[in-house]
Amino acid sequence: MVAAFDGEQLLAELDALGAIGWKPGAGLQRMAYSDPDLEARRWVLAQMQALGMQAWIDPAGNVIGYLPGGEALPALAIGSHTDSVPGGGKFDGALGVLAGLACVRTLRSQDVQLRHPLLLIDFAAEEATTSASPTGSLSFVGGLTQTALDGPGWDGRSTAALLADRGFDVAAMIANRPPMPIAAFLELHIEQGERLASAGVPIGVVEGIVGIRRYYVHFQGQANHAGTTDMARRRDALVMAAPFILAVRDAAVAHGIVGTVGRIEVHPNAPNVVPGRVTLDVEIRGLDDAVLDRVETILAAEAARCEGRLHFGHRKEPVLADPNLMAAIERGCKALGLRTMRLPSGAGHDAMNLAAICPYAMIFAPSEQGVSHAPEEWTQPHDCINAGRALLAALLEVDAMLDA
Ligand SMILES: [Zn+2]
Repeated sequence: MVAAFDGEQLLAELDALGAIGWKPGAGLQRMAYSDPDLEARRWVLAQMQALGMQAWIDPAGNVIGYLPGGEALPALAIGSHTDSVPGGGKFDGALGVLAGLACVRTLRSQDVQLRHPLLLIDFAAEEATTSASPTGSLSFVGGLTQTALDGPGWDGRSTAALLADRGFDVAAMIANRPPMPIAAFLELHIEQGERLASAGVPIGVVEGIVGIRRYYVHFQGQANHAGTTDMARRRDALVMAAPFILAVRDAAVAHGIVGTVGRIEVHPNAPNVVPGRVTLDVEIRGLDDAVLDRVETILAAEAARCEGRLHFGHRKEPVLADPNLMAAIERGCKALGLRTMRLPSGAGHDAMNLAAICPYAMIFAPSEQGVSHAPEEWTQPHDCINAGRALLAALLEVDAMLDA
């Protein structure tokens, strides 16, 4: 069955879809609800229809294709997104949607009907170019709020204003729900890191999407003349902050997570003034809440030791993948002779929203040199094809495994 998977067609479609909104020298410009984004969605809709799927666009702009199942069971859903960041690459999201089309093409060409109905979904506005992102999948699961849409979108206006301008009915987006009960969601996506490529492993099995915790740390010193203030008499807020920044890195390394000081504000930020006040943003990401708790305690203690004050910011819980679905992916890959490796996802994906309504699992394809959200983003052709075959094998495994 998987032997009939048409890899060449998948590669041709990656090129065709990748040309929509591609600007030479500037990469993919398919920001959510922009003209090229809507054109790409209509293209996906037409591909679904050409494969004999019943297909429609829901109130959020999600493109949904449907194949009936052979038994009275809830649906299996597969898919990803086709919107991009400004200056993105042609694999992020698109590979998952096109591999889904390739799976449907294989099923049709082999005259195979799954036991479960199948939904193939191209989610809208996955990238953080709109507030409430991933917006399309959040709307799909019924989690979208007006407040979230009042935040800024990529064109400077609120997301709600951008949507209204494009003819979307915001109230209908908020009232949106899945079209039918869903038993499981499988998302294929590029890794966007370099663990698979550097290990030479073709398939990643995602253990979960990491939790994110952000903190703001304030260091209060004393601004003073940089020429006349003796070194011994200074209260330099940036010097106070420096050991804390190193402590963030050390705590992350020691606990096997990632930690970043990505933004720093120095007052008054002048070359001839001793810094009087520093504010920095810290974020840590990891899969295990207990580990994040431990690092959080260390960071609070380190901030105090450096005479800083740590404040709590935004927090997102880890979203773990379903062990049975992970095992199904691994069984499917084993039968195909494809090596797999378990790994966390450091980036958010549509799957984390789907987790609110059903179990999920994700397949990662290798990203060359870990480059993503850039025009140079690249996944080797054979890796794209293998990931698509792995998706089909996993889908068949899950279809056989789940009786509800
Ligand atoms: Zn993506």
